Amino acid sequence: MRLIPSLAALALPVCLLLAGCTAPEPAATPAPEATPAALEPDPPMVCSMCDEWNTPRAPFQVFANTYYVGTAGLSSMLIATDAGLVLIDVALPQSAPLIDANIRALGFRTEDVKYILTSHAHFDHLGGVASMQRYTGATVLASASSAEALALGHPVPSDPQYGTGPTDRFPAITDHVRVVRDGETLELGGTTITARYTPGHTPGATSWTWPSCEGERCLNMVYVDSLTAVSRDDFLFTSVSGLVETFRETLARVRAFPCDVVIATHPAATGLDERLAGRASGGFAPGADGDPLVDPEACVALADRSLKALDERVALERP
Ligand SMILES: [Zn+2]
Repeated sequence: MRLIPSLAALALPVCLLLAGCTAPEPAATPAPEATPAALEPDPPMVCSMCDEWNTPRAPFQVFANTYYVGTAGLSSMLIATDAGLVLIDVALPQSAPLIDANIRALGFRTEDVKYILTSHAHFDHLGGVASMQRYTGATVLASASSAEALALGHPVPSDPQYGTGPTDRFPAITDHVRVVRDGETLELGGTTITARYTPGHTPGATSWTWPSCEGERCLNMVYVDSLTAVSRDDFLFTSVSGLVETFRETLARVRAFPCDVVIATHPAATGLDERLAGRASGGFAPGADGDPLVDPEACVALADRSLKALDERVALERP
């Protein structure tokens, strides 16, 4: 539903300025907040990878009510229900118009986005959330630590990439942010989406899982957060008590996710291009037997690759 400011809400402040006029009766329900008529993106981020990441990608159906609406290098997922749309991540500030266009190209209305779910509080995944929220009036869901970062407009100080320079910033979001606990679910229009804390890459990193169904056939969808041990130059994962163990627990959790289809925050991490090429060359319908996007071993493989990389990082820190 489009949020339009009520006439009463518009008239009241004008009336207060005019002596002798009669204020209209207050509306029975609070007036919805005004939202812009079109998406107004925040200034673009500049980074060495930004242009490549932000290359447009045609949106596509992953399976049933799950769609990919992100860019070439930064994922954004759309879950369509009868009760409204759920969007996960909005990439860079300059990605927001592309994501808006992708949602529309699929035949949906961006104004119908009710919730924006977030992975981790870095500029390349949350940079576009603020403008998307202004446009849609959606509630933003974030882990406790990510919500803290959203309010700051930069990563929390315990983030391994805290203080890495100009890209350490993103448009802050303070209003209509709902903190979700690990394991908490969001139910909308018959789809239940579960927040799964996966700390390591950032303290607040969150993956999301949901079953997507077409008739009797349901597939377990996973939007997995970044699992890379990346940091600023002077940060050691081994110097923070318990951090490496926490990271390993995260990877064990990802390994055990209910997982038929997995897409990572950076789609290359789960081989999206190769899988899409295989889907196209094989003529597979989304979710059909043989569709390369359906891969129940993909979460295990991703967790194992990530564990190997983490072990290598730890070995470098402890020569
Ligand atoms: Zn990141």
